[in-house]
Amino acid sequence: MKTILLISSLFFATWTDAPKSEKESEVYICVSTTAKRYHYSENCRGLKQCSHTIKKISLSEARNKYKRTLCGYED
Ligand SMILES: [Zn+2]
Repeated sequence: MKTILLISSLFFATWTDAPKSEKESEVYICVSTTAKRYHYSENCRGLKQCSHTIKKISLSEARNKYKRTLCGYED
């Protein structure tokens, strides 16, 4: 009984970890030529200034493809 519980909790931990790390790697950017930042929060006040389309992309894409740096309102 104890072994089964251990295995199932281990499986649960692994299973719940996957969508969490995927969520952390997604950021929001303002699709504007003047915008230079990426945001973790869709409701960030830095994004509120965006008059263009807000796009949800991966963190690596924001850094490498769009050359964005993290928004000054977030850490
Ligand atoms: Zn921000």
